[in-house]
Amino acid sequence: MKVPFLDLRVTDAAERAELLDAVARVLDHGRLVMGPEMEQFEQAIAADVGRRFALAVGSGTHALWLALKALRLAPGDEVITTSLSWIATANAIRLAGGTPIFADVGDDLNLNPASVARLITPRTRAIVPVHYTGKACDMATLGRLAEQHRLAIVEDTAQAYGATFGGRKVGSFGVAAAFSMNPMKVLAACGEAGAVVTDDPELYEQLVALRYNGCVNREVCIEASLNGRMDTMEAAILLKRMPRLPALIAARRRNAALYDQLLAGVVETPVRTSDREDVFYTYTIRADHRDELRAYLESQGVETKIQHQYLMPDQPAYQAGARGEFTHARALQRRFMCLPIHEKLTEEQVRYTAACIRAFCQKTKAIAA
Ligand SMILES: *Cc1c(COP(=O)(O)O)cnc(C)c1O
Repeated sequence: MKVPFLDLRVTDAAERAELLDAVARVLDHGRLVMGPEMEQFEQAIAADVGRRFALAVGSGTHALWLALKALRLAPGDEVITTSLSWIATANAIRLAGGTPIFADVGDDLNLNPASVARLITPRTRAIVPVHYTGKACDMATLGRLAEQHRLAIVEDTAQAYGATFGGRKVGSFGVAAAFSMNPMKVLAACGEAGAVVTDDPELYEQLVALRYNGCVNREVCIEASLNGRMDTMEAAILLKRMPRLPALIAARRRNAALYDQLLAGVVETPVRTSDREDVFYTYTIRADHRDELRAYLESQGVETKIQHQYLMPDQPAYQAGARGEFTHARALQRRFMCLPIHEKLTEEQVRYTAACIRAFCQKTKAIAA
């Protein structure tokens, strides 16, 4: 049996027809960038996340950079984030003028608030929680810290569209939040896409100008920025996909629950807490002999990934003088790996993957004994 990590083809006939129709409509009206579908998409996102404003942009990285740029960081301003994320998080902080400070993570692979607290200095301006793997960070504790020290929170919600903390959707906690809708994400476009959400009208107004080369009225540049506009076709596609999202998240949760059950006591399955509803962007287990396990699974046709191979502070671009604490993240990094979890997996594929893992673990245990 083959179990692919991802399958981005559009194979459902009804969905395919809907997407093609949406694209045809854009070709008909011809407003190919920032067309009417983009505005509809912005309204849909804002309503769904529960925020006043949403700004659609060309990628999640761009969304995060814009949200951070609007904080007006000064040289030397520190922004505390996790040490375990896709490098876009650190890049956005640095290119917005901040100094990333890398905090440690817990067994849930998310920002450890105690580590964040230890890293706060008089130079700290903001916290960027990344809701990693599609699980919300502890927003109650991080919110209290931010309030005590007057720090802004900008959420990196790239992996977690639809996830909740305390019944509240991620993206509704910080002064702003940045979503990615790239094709791998839970809510996915058919190309690059992202969005910033906020409740603050002034911040929103700045973001509108910053999205298009710092221009107002399409011509007058009031501040140096870059072009980050969204293609109308992507917005049209996303609008069609949004109603399908609950079913898609349900499928991921079903796969996760089955893995949880089949892998209990075999490997360490993702940490679950009753105050959070996860969307399982990835299903990340922790296991001994991780690299051998991956090789074995590959030999059995099961594709897995390590997200991510490098901690952000260990990347060549950040290594020199990287500040923070990442002892636990480094220990975990040798043990975690992501199993296929996408909505197209069949129950049979999940059972087969779990059976392969059980077989491997029994064998290694027998050798050790
Ligand atoms: C995907 C991702 C991003 C960047 O989004 P793009 O749309 O790929 O630019 C940022 N942060 C995290 C945590 C991500 O997973």
